[in-house]
Amino acid sequence: MGKVYLIGAGPGDPELLTLKAYRILRKADVVLYDALVNREILHFARQDSLKIYVGKRDGKHSLPQEEINELLHRFALSYKIVVRLKGGDPFVFGRGGEELLYLKSRGVEVEIVPGITSAISAPSSAFIPVTHRGIASSFAVVTGHPNREIKWEDLVNIDTLVVLMGVKNREKIARELIGAGRNPDEPVAFIEKATTPEQREVFSTLKEVAQNPPEVNPPAVMVVGKVVEIGAKVLCERIIGVTL
Ligand code: SAH
Repeated sequence: MGKVYLIGAGPGDPELLTLKAYRILRKADVVLYDALVNREILHFARQDSLKIYVGKRDGKHSLPQEEINELLHRFALSYKIVVRLKGGDPFVFGRGGEELLYLKSRGVEVEIVPGITSAISAPSSAFIPVTHRGIASSFAVVTGHPNREIKWEDLVNIDTLVVLMGVKNREKIARELIGAGRNPDEPVAFIEKATTPEQREVFSTLKEVAQNPPEVNPPAVMVVGKVVEIGAKVLCERIIGVTL
């Protein structure tokens, strides 16, 4: 029986892969990867390795999770090194836990290789620190997926809010947050395609996102909180070349 490595591929930039991920990828027999994994990273795998895409196709659904679990199990029975490569970190909204438990229940050895999550690296690539002395001493990462029930009122006192999978739902999220008691003037940033050459930042406020949401394209991370001003200031200075 082989071993399955649940590996985080980082947010996009291939250089943000860990050395451990790189080392294991180079000797993998099979690599199952998701939509958010930068294809350049696949070049690190052996040319003769099996590379299988299990992400969303043309807006259609990704392979059902049960099928991915079974595939991983089946490959572990016939190959030595099976890599399950996921965007960011495998345990941050990546269903890595489900794969771990399934494989363990089938007696398959599993190793987790953490990755740099977009939840923190997307903000930081836009010069937004999720914590900052005197400004933010707590942050929370939540899903903004329309199918998930979030108790937004519980998040009122968290200094920095990071929302993943929230682009489509951004208007409703902003409304919920204002309704729950967050300041409508609070700054908001969306960081699209973070750490890639196509990275784009959109700055706004909760009020504006709730009433007249700016255009944002997925994948993007939404950040709410005063720390957003730091990123806005630095990026603005970079553009106009003047210290504000
Ligand atoms: N496991 C991943 C998250 C998977 S959920 C991680 O740790 O990063 C998918 C969501 O992650 C997307 O909807 C988006 O909100 C965010 N995301 C992933 N990669 C991103 C990137 N390069 N730029 C912006 N957002 C990204």
